[in-house]
Amino acid sequence: MGMISSPVTHVDVLVVGGGPSGFAAAVSSARTGASTALLERHPMLGGMATVALVNNFCPAHLDGTRLIIGGVFGEFRERLIEKKAIFSAPDNATYMMEMFNPEVYAETMVEFCERAGVSLHLGCRILDVETQPSTGETSLRTSKGRFTAHTIVDATGDACIAASLGLPFTFGRSSDDAVMPLTFCYEIGPIDLETLEREMPYKIPVHPVTQEKHFCISNQGKTNTWIQEAKAKGELTIPRDHIAGIMNYPGQPDHATVNFGRVTIEDPTDPEQLMAAEAEGLRQIENGISFFRNYLPGFDRIELKRKALQIGVRETRQVIGLHTLTGAEAKACTQFEDVIAQCCYAIDIHQPGEVGTILIPFEPGTHFDIPWRSLIPASGPGNLVVTGRCISADQEAMSAFRVSPSVMAIGEAAGITAALASQQNLPVAEVGHQPVQKELLAHGGILA
Ligand SMILES: Cc1cc2nc3c(=O)[nH]c(=O)nc-3n(C[C@H](O)[C@H](O)[C@H](O)COP(=O)(O)OP(=O)(O)OC[C@H]3O[C@@H](n4cnc5c(N)ncnc54)[C@H](O)[C@@H]3O)c2cc1C
Repeated sequence: MGMISSPVTHVDVLVVGGGPSGFAAAVSSARTGASTALLERHPMLGGMATVALVNNFCPAHLDGTRLIIGGVFGEFRERLIEKKAIFSAPDNATYMMEMFNPEVYAETMVEFCERAGVSLHLGCRILDVETQPSTGETSLRTSKGRFTAHTIVDATGDACIAASLGLPFTFGRSSDDAVMPLTFCYEIGPIDLETLEREMPYKIPVHPVTQEKHFCISNQGKTNTWIQEAKAKGELTIPRDHIAGIMNYPGQPDHATVNFGRVTIEDPTDPEQLMAAEAEGLRQIENGISFFRNYLPGFDRIELKRKALQIGVRETRQVIGLHTLTGAEAKACTQFEDVIAQCCYAIDIHQPGEVGTILIPFEPGTHFDIPWRSLIPASGPGNLVVTGRCISADQEAMSAFRVSPSVMAIGEAAGITAALASQQNLPVAEVGHQPVQKELLAHGGILA
């Protein structure tokens, strides 16, 4: 019997990882004219925003005076507004978390990819990554055949491709490599909104576009006191001192997704540690639901409606790039000549192994820049661009730009860089930031 050889697909640009950043990279690469394939291991696009049920845009794009991220992100957000699928801030100056419907978000990503001509491969597992010594070409063996490309965009969040190719990276906090804890998010309901409003007390606004009531419970009223009380009685063992968020989303006014767990492990890229974290995350879901039923007004009849497809991972590897963006640069609101994205979301470090969070907001009207050099690995084969939460940065800087709007903006620049590298047959570092900025601005990007 002869050997069955797997099919080989060659494209100009291969984007691995279909989270917010990989999505924007694939769309911008295809729009720049490169043949582009997007590989995602889960059956849906969206990454942490959908598969980990973190279905909101943290305000990295609204600096308290204006919108500071445009491009693919801006278009995508507008489309969600048209579909009445997002509780958008009523004006661009309002600083608030914008909850979206995760299913509509994922479907809209597919629409954008299809319209741009991206070849989409969902449920695609990477089996191995190798570089041909003779040609320098990188080849990926996957559950859907072999893929080769002129340029690869690593949008895996965990820098899986860069790590497989042996590129150097840092991991977590510089003092001890500790990464931010993980959280298993979930959806609960029904919540009695009248009781919540009356007894919390909490004024729940009606969204001007969707005409639905929208709420976000974090530390209002006595919430933090109830957490302390339940802990003192041994009823609550989740290592948190506040609720990050219980928020409803369009289409489900009396349901809410919950971000309240916290699981610390050393290495979320280790499958065994991740499995143990998921088991602890599930225990925390049960513990959280029982606490809400007993303490939060209007929550006494809630049930678990669904849990996320996977536990949410905040942080793993950061590939060492031509520039490592630091918290000091972010806090100084540094503007770089090679800016490819802007961010104004707070420094937001969930402290490894602790119950608290370090939150340092930016003054309204201020932001920091993300430089193009942080997407370009300092070493390696020259055909790889890194994007999303795993670009070159320290923990403090990444704790701010890791949120969905800014990783989409970074992804757009990564996709353009990869497309230009393939069209001009250049290593990515030789593309330079100016042509990338020019393309970004030509497509509605905001860089100043
Ligand atoms: C618990 C939690 C709460 C958060 N809260 C918020 C919030 O409220 N608002 C906000 O805006 N942001 C929030 N964030 C941050 C934000 O969701 C992420 O940082 C963001 O999604 C990162 O985008 P990304 O595209 O870089 O990576 P990811 O979203 O991690 O996407 C990476 C994608 O690559 C895929 N992938 C990985 N490895 C492979 C492989 N080998 N082969 C194929 N595919 C692969 C993954 O399946 C995934 O789809 C939160 C994150 C977490 C974990």
